[in-house]
Amino acid sequence: MKLLGAEFIKSSVSPEQFPADRLPEIAFVGRSNVGKSSLINSLLHRKKLAKVSKTPGKTRAINFFTVRTSDQHLPLLSLVDLPGYGYAKVSKTMRAQWGPMIEQYLEQRQSLGAIILLIESRVWMPQDVMTVQWVQSLGCGLIIVLTKADKLRQSERKPAVAAVRNACGLGPEVPILLYSAETHEGRDALWGEIRTQFKT
Ligand code: GDP
Repeated sequence: MKLLGAEFIKSSVSPEQFPADRLPEIAFVGRSNVGKSSLINSLLHRKKLAKVSKTPGKTRAINFFTVRTSDQHLPLLSLVDLPGYGYAKVSKTMRAQWGPMIEQYLEQRQSLGAIILLIESRVWMPQDVMTVQWVQSLGCGLIIVLTKADKLRQSERKPAVAAVRNACGLGPEVPILLYSAETHEGRDALWGEIRTQFKT
């Protein structure tokens, strides 16, 4: 499968600004600094489409992209980059605004087909477990990705996946993948899971 195009559509800070529900959407969710921008860039073979920031919590808007692949069974998709949650240094008002925005998007978006939830492979927290459980309750397709896999030793890889599966109480139907945006490990596997969720 080849990636034929990836385009930025718009940034939205409130539901009125979301683009019309048109294309099937995949939303990327994760804690600030989990490596979400890096993963999106890696997945789309681009260097700077999603911004990679050294300052966690900078991206506060929901960013929409369209993605076209050569796979005739995979429709034109909209990829949605949600702001990272849980960064302590942003103001309370800011957090109070963006929590509901993410919730509203995930709970109400008609065209949302699957959620890719990112968790840092070495540094996962109770908040990640709570997010997994909440997202699962939405009844939408779910793929868990453990990021920064290049930081794991070989012997830590399987236990890292098993630990997240156990802590979150996830059955075998929820895929958990290891991904490294540095080496692009996991890229084909993630496209494979996306294909499983969306193929027509
Ligand atoms: P975001 O806040 O979730 O969008 O995270 P970023 O993509 O901006 O990444 C946060 C930090 O983690 C940056 O310093 C990245 O260079 C680093 N990072 C992201 N992905 C990886 C990865 O796969 N491996 C390693 N070693 N570092 C990564």
